[in-house]
Amino acid sequence: MSRAFNFCAGPAALPEAVLKQAQQDLVDWHGRGCSVMEMSHRGADFVSIAEQAEQDLRDLLAIPSNYKVLFLQGGASQQFAQVPMNLLAGKASADYVCTGVWSEKAIAEAKKFGGVNVVATDVANNFRAVPAFADWQLDKNAAYLHYTPNETIHGVEYDFIPQVDVPLVADYSSSILSEPLDVSKFGLIYAGAQKNIGPAGIVVVIVREDLLGHMMPGMPTMLDYAVAAKNSSMYNTPPTYSWYLSGLVFQWLKAQGGLEAMATLNARKAAKLYSTIDTSDFYANPVAIANRSRMNVPFTLADANLDKTFLKEAEALQLLNLAGHRSVGGMRASLYNAVSEAAVDALIDFMGDFERRYG
Ligand code: PMP
Repeated sequence: MSRAFNFCAGPAALPEAVLKQAQQDLVDWHGRGCSVMEMSHRGADFVSIAEQAEQDLRDLLAIPSNYKVLFLQGGASQQFAQVPMNLLAGKASADYVCTGVWSEKAIAEAKKFGGVNVVATDVANNFRAVPAFADWQLDKNAAYLHYTPNETIHGVEYDFIPQVDVPLVADYSSSILSEPLDVSKFGLIYAGAQKNIGPAGIVVVIVREDLLGHMMPGMPTMLDYAVAAKNSSMYNTPPTYSWYLSGLVFQWLKAQGGLEAMATLNARKAAKLYSTIDTSDFYANPVAIANRSRMNVPFTLADANLDKTFLKEAEALQLLNLAGHRSVGGMRASLYNAVSEAAVDALIDFMGDFERRYG
């Protein structure tokens, strides 16, 4: 059986080489007579897997030594709560930018823990652009500023990193590792794994050390970043297999040439697809050019009645998971690191052919 081209927004395609390595290791990891899933998380073998994964991630992102890297559970959605719990630190409120569904969710959750000042929102424009930084109503007393560098559903990506005087917090779930990143600009970065990192079940948090240790009183021990940091993310049993697979992805990324190489490839993949959309009257993408996501490309067909046919024919050609998010409809092609240029070429060929037959 051949592998399909998978454009799923998440859980997303994993590199075939990673899956094959995992297959080889599955029953018997490195001659130990057991799989990674069956090892003690505190044993030397798993600890070496965990430490190697962290080191490879540190290498890829050039993470400065005054940042902790945590491998946690609960997904990015739990971070929507965990961030304010840990970072409000006695302040009255935090600043949030609202650029789509994922910002909205982060904002709704943060409101349970303190004040939220929405410094800018593009809701009136149906989330098609990042509001101009000059217009943000920033509060210099905010505990932090939270934003979503890439909105997975609306396909809106920032073309800048906000420069603010308070700790910058970013939900990088759908664009981490897609290009080099200057981690030192951030107080905290979090990212659910199931797009560019590995399988679902793990979330990576990169946090500056001085932000640890300010948890609100009365909160669960499990949600205190300081506890996780002190225990090397092993306060309780971590998701060992997801951690191991993420480590294989980090090694694969290094072998591809690291994040510079991924950035070049990702820019080329996205440019090709947007060009196909823009040069046709049949396909359309509503996002402002400067804010078009390189990772998630939503598009509509001129006639929505053709959506079902498009998806059916695509699937028959092994072009999978192209339906847009249920909240916005249309189509969406997610072009994460593990989605090859050949996959994008196959999608573009199909789109051209479909337009010729139905346009
Ligand atoms: N933030 C963003 C930007 C996302 O794309 C997603 C998932 N698609 C989430 C948060 C929620 O992630 P999780 O399902 O891991 O909670």
